[in-house]
Amino acid sequence: MSAPLDASGLGALVAQASAAIASSATLSALDELATTLRAKDAPLLLARRSLGEITDEAERKATGARVGEAMEAVNAALAARRSDLEAIERRAQLERDALDLTEVVVDQVRVPVRRGSLHLVTQTRAALEDVFVGMGFEVAEGPEVETDWYNFEALNIPPGHPARDMYDTMYLDLGLPETALLRTHTSPTQIHLLEKAVAEGTLPVHAVMPGRCYRLDTPDARHLPVFHQIEGLVVDKGITFGDLAGVIETFTAAYFGPDIHSRLRPAYFPFTEPSAEFEITCTICRGEGCRTCSRTGWIELGGCGMVDPAVFEAVGIDPAEYSGFAFGFGIDRCAQMRHGIADMRALIENDLRFARQF
Ligand SMILES: [Zn+2]
Repeated sequence: MSAPLDASGLGALVAQASAAIASSATLSALDELATTLRAKDAPLLLARRSLGEITDEAERKATGARVGEAMEAVNAALAARRSDLEAIERRAQLERDALDLTEVVVDQVRVPVRRGSLHLVTQTRAALEDVFVGMGFEVAEGPEVETDWYNFEALNIPPGHPARDMYDTMYLDLGLPETALLRTHTSPTQIHLLEKAVAEGTLPVHAVMPGRCYRLDTPDARHLPVFHQIEGLVVDKGITFGDLAGVIETFTAAYFGPDIHSRLRPAYFPFTEPSAEFEITCTICRGEGCRTCSRTGWIELGGCGMVDPAVFEAVGIDPAEYSGFAFGFGIDRCAQMRHGIADMRALIENDLRFARQF
């Protein structure tokens, strides 16, 4: 087989080889093509071999230069295509090696990805705060470790007072001169707030104080040793019992719904005078009477009353100038009533089948 040695014939060979090189899709296909192009019987190699048949020296030199250029062009095309294909294969390898963590979870653990949610008690606390903030209250917090003064004495419960029996207190041995304890109610935050308001001259006070409380109670359907309360305090000039009743009723309808109402029954608390327990329409029977409400149509939610003058005196407020009211109730109890939870212990058992319902 004779090979073309003129410029147009060589040009056609280079064009043909370049097209084949460009259409090689993989490195191995390119390697195969390169072997063919460099084989003894490849057209360009045949052309080079036939140079010896040219007798005129000048013509042989010129033709040899053309053949050499053609072979260089083909080698350059092979090298360029090789570098392109290597880059493409490297990219593909990186994509194969990339870690897809979601894929690992789905493929290996075989559980669907589930979105978490806030615990029912946290949701209830946030909803209660929303209602009170909407009524113009601020939200305040206080420490969970208190001294005897804040938890009892400033709230008109001196040492030896029979009211201390109402609170099975967990005391702490911190080696301090003062008696330290885990707060049994959120009421000490009232004292902190009033002291601060007096010191900074920022009376009046309109605040709710949510938080965790502790009592040495054995857990049962209605009691937990660690529980949550929300407490409200309004101190201003000219505050009356009517304001208290109005706030309780407004809150009850806003949180539980317009068909749930409140009523106050006389009670005793050391830090309020007069004091009341507040009851709301039974959320199970809506006032008809059922087992939960002992057929009365009402269930107790919390306690309230007018701030006792002794509490004002403990923090340096003149009870002749200021008056106020306070109220408090359990956040856990609120969740229990609103969602009809029979046993409060379900709130702390961490059974996901229970927790995921809310
Ligand atoms: Zn009922």
